[in-house]
Amino acid sequence: MTNEVNPFESLQEQIDDAAAFLDARPDEIERLKYPERVLETNLTVELDDGSTEVFRAYRSQFNGDRGPYKGGIRYHPGVDSAEVKALSGWMVYKCAAVGIPYGGGKGGIAVNPNDLSESELERLTRAFATELRPFIGADRDIPAPDVNTGQREMNWIKDTYETLENTTEPGVITGKAIESGGSAGRVEATGRSVMLVSREAFDYLGWDISEATVAIQGYGNAGSVAAALLDDLGANIVAVSDSSGAIHNPDGMDASAVKDHKLETGTVSGYEEATESMTNEDLLTMDVDLLVPAALENAIDERLAREVSADIIVEAANGPLTPNADEVLADSDVHVFPDILANAGGVTVSYFEWVQNRQRFHWTEQRVNDELERIITEAFEDLVDVYESADVPNFRTAMYVVAIRRVLQSARESGVWA
Ligand code: NAD
Repeated sequence: MTNEVNPFESLQEQIDDAAAFLDARPDEIERLKYPERVLETNLTVELDDGSTEVFRAYRSQFNGDRGPYKGGIRYHPGVDSAEVKALSGWMVYKCAAVGIPYGGGKGGIAVNPNDLSESELERLTRAFATELRPFIGADRDIPAPDVNTGQREMNWIKDTYETLENTTEPGVITGKAIESGGSAGRVEATGRSVMLVSREAFDYLGWDISEATVAIQGYGNAGSVAAALLDDLGANIVAVSDSSGAIHNPDGMDASAVKDHKLETGTVSGYEEATESMTNEDLLTMDVDLLVPAALENAIDERLAREVSADIIVEAANGPLTPNADEVLADSDVHVFPDILANAGGVTVSYFEWVQNRQRFHWTEQRVNDELERIITEAFEDLVDVYESADVPNFRTAMYVVAIRRVLQSARESGVWA
């Protein structure tokens, strides 16, 4: 992964690229390129040995034209203001791309959670929730899980918020455990939309996904679920990786067995059915039908993009290609299906969770999966409509055109105050 690219600048370039195909005034586009507000704060946490440590934490509320801010909370040493702002902007256009009534937000703490005990993590999370309390709420800003956070952290945030507000408000956060108001199907939702977009992409291009070879970079929540569901479609998972490196078997691997191995040992490396180990770079440039980057942003830069041999990239991670890499691939035969559609399953089922919390009514997993499939396939049709009619260079720009049009329309309908 290259650290030279500022993800916030990548986001702004993507908006400019799409703006060229939109009938919008420069001032309207300018507004869509910057967050409405960013909270940046210190969290002082007592460690188990009695000492204290200070952590930087952020929450960016990018745009609320279409509804409450919505987006995850990430725990990672690389979290900073530029990353959080970029991720919050991508959430705006992701929610608009799939037509759910949210704006975009994102937050994070600069921390390596592996360095903390569970009780230290709980104190850190509750300290963040306390800082966030004035800014969040079911109608204001609704956080969710992201890298290195999950149900446990969401439950702590919900409990802190509800205790301080003296209320019950499960819709203040999504990605909760089922007994704390979570939705069936939420954990699998991001991987499921990656599978659905891959399926639609192969179908659109007239190729057979059940014959496809697949490489997956990153074997966490999004990557491992996508792998298992693609495996179910008959595709061959020939290579997967995590931060420890990549494994390969040209005959395909059982995605669920790889996941069990990772759960047991903490890494995909050493999985017994793999025939060889390779580097993450080798994996990203493998000659496969489908490449799924499912780790972090900027995984593929301009140099690596020139070596990509996959036919289709479906972006499970947010922003895995730098803008220069995107340009290289737009001029090549590689079809890139963008993050704001491919990984939108997570926020879509978060939306279902929020609807269920407000209704105080629990949906079956079948209902969740059926509604998700409807939303993702309709968004794919919207993407194809613009791709075929607007002379755009790639599927990413087409999806941004769909999304920005929707945000612009609601901003215009609201009018200008003052
Ligand atoms: P996760 O923490 O569960 O998994 C991340 C995986 O990436 C881990 O296996 C880790 O070892 C691996 N990884 C980290 N650095 C790597 C590197 N340099 N090379 C190869 N592997 C590396 O996170 P996740 O929830 O699966 O999220 C992954 C991506 O998907 C992120 O970009 C996230 O923003 C995006 N995303 C996740 C969701 C969701 O609901 N989980 C929703 C939308 C987008």
